[in-house]
Amino acid sequence: MTDRESRYLISKYGRLFYYLRRESLQTISQVAGAQLGELQRMAQVEIRDVDKFYGDVQAIDAVSLDIDDGDFVILVGPSGCGKSTLLRMVAGLEDISYGDISIGGKVVTTLPPKDRDTAMVFQNYALYPHMTVAENMGFSLRLKGEAKSIARQKVGDTAEILGLSDLLDRYPRQLSGGQRQRVAMGRAIVRKPAVFLFDEPLSNLDAKLRVQMRAEIRELQQRLNTTTIYVTHDQIEAMTMADKIVVMQNGVIEQVGSPLDLYDRPGNTFIASFIGSPSMNLIAGKMTEDGFLSHFDDLLPVPEERRHLSATTYGIRPEHLLLDPDGLEMTVAVVETMGFETHLLGMLGETKITVLTNERVNAGLGDVIPVRPDPHNAHLFDATGTRIA
Ligand code: ADP
Repeated sequence: MTDRESRYLISKYGRLFYYLRRESLQTISQVAGAQLGELQRMAQVEIRDVDKFYGDVQAIDAVSLDIDDGDFVILVGPSGCGKSTLLRMVAGLEDISYGDISIGGKVVTTLPPKDRDTAMVFQNYALYPHMTVAENMGFSLRLKGEAKSIARQKVGDTAEILGLSDLLDRYPRQLSGGQRQRVAMGRAIVRKPAVFLFDEPLSNLDAKLRVQMRAEIRELQQRLNTTTIYVTHDQIEAMTMADKIVVMQNGVIEQVGSPLDLYDRPGNTFIASFIGSPSMNLIAGKMTEDGFLSHFDDLLPVPEERRHLSATTYGIRPEHLLLDPDGLEMTVAVVETMGFETHLLGMLGETKITVLTNERVNAGLGDVIPVRPDPHNAHLFDATGTRIA
């Protein structure tokens, strides 16, 4: 029986065994926690070997991840890769089929959402339409039985941080999208949770507001220094906001690293093409002693000390294809003029490529422009798609 099958069977039939094991782990961590007392309210998150099955569909496959106290971690990947499911498992909104999650050293795997000390901001904000901004923000405090005066103070302070002080008496329908978004964040902040969980919070905003809110959320997170897990399919959000990016595909973690780690050293061709916009150019071929020979007979430069590597894909970012009279011939299809930079889309042999330059290029459909890859910024991948240099 494979490991995968045994996990599945445990998830389906071994619940009693599984719960017993979880409870014992929890008791141990509670005793240890009591000994540490109030000294530490650390909010590191540990995800250990977690699986999620929906019937026979496995949405999460043996995921383990350590998130440090105060870190801003972004889960990113294409639609259906399992990022929301993982976030919802941390929140307690989805059962965990196998494995454990701890927050601040305490195993929370079986705890209901309200006992996990997390606060979630949803994509659709989920504000109560019949409550004012102040009532929406203070709702959780009311449920907790917080004294009215203290709750009012906390809501007031949070509204101040978010620039909502003048809007406290309005109803959600009287707010713009960005303001609603801020109220949803306010509702999370007011609870002073150990961990913030964001599920695609900017998807419903227009492009300009999204850029503004990106910076606001990042700034706020740094100010509050609260551990944050944030889900998005947008790699630009991930690159601009995260301390650490977790790239997922098909329910597994492909790579974890800082934004620039992932950009400079993508672990495989999937990450290479997913992180970065425009995407990295990936050109198929084989290594020779003179350089990398594409399937269309273009010789791409490789530093001599790397020419022994058995690469089958040559990766080059659009900004590392330089306009050079001695370069390879690129046939232009489209020129996208952005103002501060220009994107040239075209063909190198039969491979579609993109060039990014700060020069203003006067070219059109069918023109041939010579481009030269900068060999020191070339990425090499083997036949499995794994990075080798
Ligand atoms: P993402 O957030 O990356 O778009 P999800 O976590 O929502 O992906 O989904 C991961 C996988 O689990 C997908 O294949 C999705 O179809 C499946 N899935 C999610 N929720 C359910 C559900 N309630 N029932 C069955 N399958 C689900």
